[in-house]
Amino acid sequence: MTHPWKSKGETRTIWFYYNPDSSILEYLTDMRRLINRGILNAYSIAVQNDNQIPSPITLRKSLKNYYDNNTDYAKHHINPVCRSAIAILRSYRKNNDGELKVIKAEKLAMRIDSELTKIEDNQLRITLKPHEYEYIDIVDKNGKYTDYSKYPISEVLLTDKKVCITFRVSTDDKPVIDNNVIGFDLNFKSVDYTVIRNNGIVETNSIDTSDIAQAQRDYARKRSKMQKHIINPAKRDRKLKEAKHRQRNITNDKIHKITTEIVKNNSEKTFVFEDLTNIKKEGMKKKNRKRNREDNNRNNKKEEKNNPKSKRFRTDINRWPYRLFQQYVDYKSGNETLYVNPAGTSSECPVCGGKLRHPSWKESKCINCGVTYNRDKLASLSISVRGLYLCGTPFAVSGSASWHSMKNDYLYHPDHVIIENDQRLQERNA
Ligand SMILES: [Zn+2]
Repeated sequence: MTHPWKSKGETRTIWFYYNPDSSILEYLTDMRRLINRGILNAYSIAVQNDNQIPSPITLRKSLKNYYDNNTDYAKHHINPVCRSAIAILRSYRKNNDGELKVIKAEKLAMRIDSELTKIEDNQLRITLKPHEYEYIDIVDKNGKYTDYSKYPISEVLLTDKKVCITFRVSTDDKPVIDNNVIGFDLNFKSVDYTVIRNNGIVETNSIDTSDIAQAQRDYARKRSKMQKHIINPAKRDRKLKEAKHRQRNITNDKIHKITTEIVKNNSEKTFVFEDLTNIKKEGMKKKNRKRNREDNNRNNKKEEKNNPKSKRFRTDINRWPYRLFQQYVDYKSGNETLYVNPAGTSSECPVCGGKLRHPSWKESKCINCGVTYNRDKLASLSISVRGLYLCGTPFAVSGSASWHSMKNDYLYHPDHVIIENDQRLQERNA
């Protein structure tokens, strides 16, 4: 069975200039000669078959004897030779109204299969002939190499001037643990989660992230002060840049710490998040509007009361790096991370499918269930359930015995929230 998230295979490429030595130049020249021979073979196969260009595999059969008898290069190199020859013929025909012709590859360029490449101590090792290696120093001109090099190589493109290394950054090699998932709902001041293990809801809780929110807010304040008070524009720009840099470091640090802890405590689970990549523009705006209301309700300050889209809150919220949080967890977890469609996670009851209303920000009221749930925890339940659905093991909340023992944990407790806020206020004033 192919799982939906497996199709997300992505690649990243780094490239740099280099000076090829004589054996690489000889190799590239020999490969160009082979590609041209491949084009000739493919052309003659095509004219015998109603101008049908053969597949690279058919071409390889016709070229194999020649390759084995006339070169001592590793046998894998014949595959990209055939792929290149066919690609050249196809693109010529496409650009010339279906005309077919023997054309000549002029450039020195060769694609090399990943089997023949390896990275060793910042050098790219290429197997040209059996047990005969070429080494090229990797030039990391923009720092991306460090990010990508932890992934397997998908392909190397070598010309007489440039080296392009493509990495397969998809995480297909990580396992999906479908009987133990943890779904996260990311909020401004907390992240809420639900664990569903062996077909039962076993835990729901909330992790306080108000220190991240606070750090974001502090720096926003500092920056706006600078905007107002530093008159020299060059100095202001420099100071602002420095502040931005510091803020990013502090936030990254905090998110690193919290995600390391979370992954450590849940190493045997599959993490499930809302897929925020495609809803950045519309969805996040919508989310932000709601979150603004939450802050207004809580703070109840006069100046914001009449202005629910207060700029201060909007910018604060945009700065909470939800996506960064997800990426760090994804990177640190040994298991596959799942991303579910976020549409409706806070408007549809995961217990009964009924419509949810929100009398206040923290409440999700389901008329069907007849109760008011804690909005964030209920959303995390929704996300876990959707994750299981992606795994092909749907989970019916209302039909599970675990739901009846866990239900109370999902109910909205207004008193509890007020006490929490009071405690926080006391701590802050102390
Ligand atoms: Zn319901």
